[in-house]
Amino acid sequence: MAKSNGKTYADADFGDLKQAAMDHLWMPFSQYNDLLSKGGPTIIVEGDGIRMTDSDGNTYIDAVGGLFLVNVGHGRTKIAEAVADQLGALHYANTFAYPAVPTIKLSKKLAELAPGDLNRVFLASGGSEAVDTALKIIRQYHVNNGEPRRTKFIARRGSYHGVSVGALSMNSAPTVHREIWDPMLINTKFVGETAEDVEEMIKFEGPETVAGFITEPISVPKGMKVPDDDYWPKVREICDRYGVLMVADEVITGFGRTGKMFAMEHWNVTADLMTFAKGVTSGYQPVGGVMVTNKVYDAFKGDGDKTFTHGYTYSGHPAGAAAALANLAIIEEENLVQNSAETGAYLKGQLETLKEHSMVSEVHGTGLLLSIELLEDKATGKPFPKGAPQLKRLVEEMENRGMLTRAEPYLYIAPPLTLTREEADEIVSIIDEALTVVEKEA
Ligand code: PLP
Repeated sequence: MAKSNGKTYADADFGDLKQAAMDHLWMPFSQYNDLLSKGGPTIIVEGDGIRMTDSDGNTYIDAVGGLFLVNVGHGRTKIAEAVADQLGALHYANTFAYPAVPTIKLSKKLAELAPGDLNRVFLASGGSEAVDTALKIIRQYHVNNGEPRRTKFIARRGSYHGVSVGALSMNSAPTVHREIWDPMLINTKFVGETAEDVEEMIKFEGPETVAGFITEPISVPKGMKVPDDDYWPKVREICDRYGVLMVADEVITGFGRTGKMFAMEHWNVTADLMTFAKGVTSGYQPVGGVMVTNKVYDAFKGDGDKTFTHGYTYSGHPAGAAAALANLAIIEEENLVQNSAETGAYLKGQLETLKEHSMVSEVHGTGLLLSIELLEDKATGKPFPKGAPQLKRLVEEMENRGMLTRAEPYLYIAPPLTLTREEADEIVSIIDEALTVVEKEA
């Protein structure tokens, strides 16, 4: 029995549960036949710090922090208690009319933490809802300001912004296969890597028709490459020049992941809107949202027609807000942003030593948002094709050695921000050993 308190899964038959998962659970982004060949999904039953334990008692380092979100680590009873206390006192109130105490406190705390004058927060339940909300804020902002023709959005090629139909319209990461759902409801234009690409597209489309530009400060599907120093300042200036609102999608990068509280602080640039989710609660409750500047919120003050007619039943859920407050308190009390910067720099240095391997080209990223760029042929720069057997084997070999991560084709390393140097060394030696095994098989 894998669960430490002995109660939680006392009556669980994990063989039956695996079968039930195969028969009834539709696992996101997962292929039934792949799961079948593995004999069903791995069932995780317990988490503690950077580690998780499965139903057979195997322990793994959670090297991607769940899905880039377990910033404070697993097993934080303080957060669980804060949630339980809140559920006991008041489990729900509708934020449309009666915001709960932790919801209001969270709005104040987020305004304190967010850069510049991102002083106002609209709460939702996750990243896709946050992005949808940002898109709608931008559309209505322009309507309220007498520019209803500003309907188009610009996003970067290869970026990930979520899967709801609005967020998907901004999303062109290969994993989402947007071609299945084209045409989208929102008219989005995709641009390349430079600030000049953004300006060219705005001019080509006609600035009076462009509503907003969205991208991640550092993009995970694009390998966590940190943009040049002048990218964000230039984009800021271009968006201002053409009246286009700029969104920094900090769903992954927020709350210390990159070694700053928010990634845009690396460039001292404040976006007009900042989307967040994941690390705001470290996954202890589903919360996301959008921070906006005073300028943006001011466009919604006035008569009824200016009111933002948008909201989710769970916007500002009291238990979610309580989890976020407890989580943010841990991030601050334990200096996890600083640890992300320092231990992240140490880990990156150690990962650089893996370049001796024939599959390893570059190490990218900052803080504890790191990736190893894997190439089939370093000499020619040839990447691995999608679903390459070597990448699958690498993931398997890391799993056999007690570490869970993804290699698609960048190998992602984004563990909890509590990571110690010893744990960082452990990650590096597991990757080293797994690479050695897979390279020998070639
Ligand atoms: N935006 C970014 C940058 C993300 O990485 C993600 C999810 O990974 C999302 C939005 C969507 O978040 P969610 O999966 O919570 O809907």
